[in-house]
Amino acid sequence: MSNYVCSKCRAPAVFRMRHHRLAFCQAHYLEWFIEQTARVIEKYHMFTPQDRILVAVSGGKDSLALWDVLWRLGYPTDGLYINLGINGSDLEYSNESEHYARAFAEQNNLTLRVVNVQQSYAETIPQLASHSQRGRVKPCGVCGLVKRHIMNQVAMDNGYSLLTTAHNLDDEVAVLMGNTLTWQVDLLQRQSPVLPAEDGFVRKAKPFCRFYERETAAYTLLRGIPYEEDECPYAVGSKQLTFKDILNKLEETTPGIKMNFYASFQNARADGYFVAPGKTTDEPTAELRKCPGCGQPTTSAGLCAFCRLVKPA
Ligand code: SF4
Ligand code: ZN
Ligand code: ZN
Repeated sequence: MSNYVCSKCRAPAVFRMRHHRLAFCQAHYLEWFIEQTARVIEKYHMFTPQDRILVAVSGGKDSLALWDVLWRLGYPTDGLYINLGINGSDLEYSNESEHYARAFAEQNNLTLRVVNVQQSYAETIPQLASHSQRGRVKPCGVCGLVKRHIMNQVAMDNGYSLLTTAHNLDDEVAVLMGNTLTWQVDLLQRQSPVLPAEDGFVRKAKPFCRFYERETAAYTLLRGIPYEEDECPYAVGSKQLTFKDILNKLEETTPGIKMNFYASFQNARADGYFVAPGKTTDEPTAELRKCPGCGQPTTSAGLCAFCRLVKPA
């Protein structure tokens, strides 16, 4: 890296981004990253300082970086950590992640809400998954369902106007690749940097959607934020990671291809390429009813998928 100098002050650079043709020293990288986040928030009209923002925090590098940037930009934020109960003898993944989320909140005098799945619903995510999976090994489907439900419930019950998640460009293009290969038009239609509130669903935004994963990682490292470095043990071998590997190989030979894929898709989406006749881009494709168990919106005629899965402890 010593061959490169900071694009702003000409000091030796510590981080270089080939696709942007930029390199920065530590101070100017941190400054650039915060400015870029502010531009994305503005570009997609995500939120304003008048919003009450709930930040979904996993204890990993991306979500702690997001919380850090949002409070530095002066947005009123609280964090939400969901302890999934993924703790083994080798790795106390959920408990360690909770430790990092709590430590960040304490250090910056911020409020962290914690929901412990086992304490609230009697079973951990792997336990809930074990009797609902019909032989599948990974609990990721159940995990996603439970996380989406809890995030929406906490946001709605506590009057937050917005939920933010730290999905980065690598996450977004991996999902985009999966949805494109199977041509899931309804999912493509809703893969937006910001989803407006609907009846029973809180507004959602992804302020890091245009940052490469290595850029969010560099922010966390250069800012010196301690975070959970281990991945969830169930992430190994996932389709999402396979797509990320393929896209990384493409990026090596064609720098900027991930950003082009995502930006071109968002342009096509904004132009209405994925809209069902008679719909606007952000409308749900299926009709929603109120779940008689939890009150959240569902497409089911009876209890929602979450209420069919769990019983309160
Ligand atoms: Fe949940 Fe699967 Fe992600 Fe682990 S890898 S946190 S189980 S969705
Ligand atoms: Zn500099
Ligand atoms: Zn329900």
